[in-house]
Amino acid sequence: MQELILLKLGELVLKGLNRHVFEERLCANIRRRIKHCGKFQITSKQSTIYIEPLNEEADLDAAFEACKCIFGIVALSKAHPCEKTKEAILDTAKTYLHGQLSAATTFKVESKRADKNFPMTSIQLSQWVGGELDDCFPNLTVDVHHPELTVHVEVRERAAYVHGNPEPGAGGLPVSINGAGVSLLSGGIDSPVSSYMMAKRGLALDMVHFFSPPYTSEQAKEKVIELARLLTPYTGHTILHIVPFTEIQEEIRKNCPEEYFTLIMRRFMMRIANRVAERIGAGCIVTGECLGQVASQTMEAMRSTEDACDYPVFRPLVGMDKEEIVSISRKIGTFGTSILPYEDCCTVFTPRHPKTHPNLSEVREVEAALPISELVERALAGEEKLKLSW
Ligand code: ATP
Ligand code: MG
Repeated sequence: MQELILLKLGELVLKGLNRHVFEERLCANIRRRIKHCGKFQITSKQSTIYIEPLNEEADLDAAFEACKCIFGIVALSKAHPCEKTKEAILDTAKTYLHGQLSAATTFKVESKRADKNFPMTSIQLSQWVGGELDDCFPNLTVDVHHPELTVHVEVRERAAYVHGNPEPGAGGLPVSINGAGVSLLSGGIDSPVSSYMMAKRGLALDMVHFFSPPYTSEQAKEKVIELARLLTPYTGHTILHIVPFTEIQEEIRKNCPEEYFTLIMRRFMMRIANRVAERIGAGCIVTGECLGQVASQTMEAMRSTEDACDYPVFRPLVGMDKEEIVSISRKIGTFGTSILPYEDCCTVFTPRHPKTHPNLSEVREVEAALPISELVERALAGEEKLKLSW
């Protein structure tokens, strides 16, 4: 019998009757993400997903790493199956976990008996295996409260499985179980984090990025492509819509009072995102805004941007401190790219004295000087789409 991966499902086990829908979605996501690691059989039973290699070439370690980023999984372990006898279980623990058992100082055995025909109770099995291991490894003492190593024994339908401490999974809900959203991705620190957070809540995401050549450089665009690519282990596959924004910005500059530049520009972003959302059948728009972080992120400014779109706007960072955002950004590996010093279109025409508490009707009035729908159409006509997948 061969080493395999056991995945523990998170929140989705709570979903009652819809559970199989969740499990199927998760299995489909896993199948897609580990395809490049070789041939595996993926099965789901009793809140556990089994990933078994089907041949020698299948790369179990690579599949394990990939699974750490898949939402919907709370914990994962590499495990070894064996016959359902206490002797086979002990032998497997001794050989398979030899390294970990030799390195630890305290341990305990935790057994689960899903197969009720197994002749010992879980407690009896844990005590017996624990006692034997304690004898074999003089470095070990039993600590049932805070052991360094927990030897897990799971007696299930087809076999018994032995593994050490599980690793934490990515949590959340399987991507796309909650439908699709359009995420506004800039080159900053925040929007990759907001995208990650909404993918974690089960949204499949398309990304929209606005760029303003020649005011913003090719490198700035490459940076955003790289950020979208870095997110794919979490988002699965995604489409990055790159929309030219130069004309809109120039028209705003020519026709609107300077203090409104950012506000009106953001309304155009929302309109275009709205169009993309309609086209792909998405149900929301996601931004990396955070209350009070900059002049354009006051409640009034958010009301003004929201007014330009029909969908709910999700802002998962709205109540977070910058430091909390940075720490997620480091964890998911986007921080280093986010801080590369290329300009964003938002910073190109920053007003000297932006309106921080705009009045919605005033914003609408000021904006009426512009041929809004033509500008939106022309920007969309220049849209470039990039498929990114893991
Ligand atoms: P970020 O770190 O995400 O760039 P920020 O703190 O710089 O955010 P703003 O520049 O006010 O804040 O942007 C607020 C949000 O608007 C961003 O989080 C992003 O969702 C969206 N956004 C800003 N610039 C762009 C852009 N060039 N393309 C697409 N979306 C953008
Ligand atoms: Mg920014």
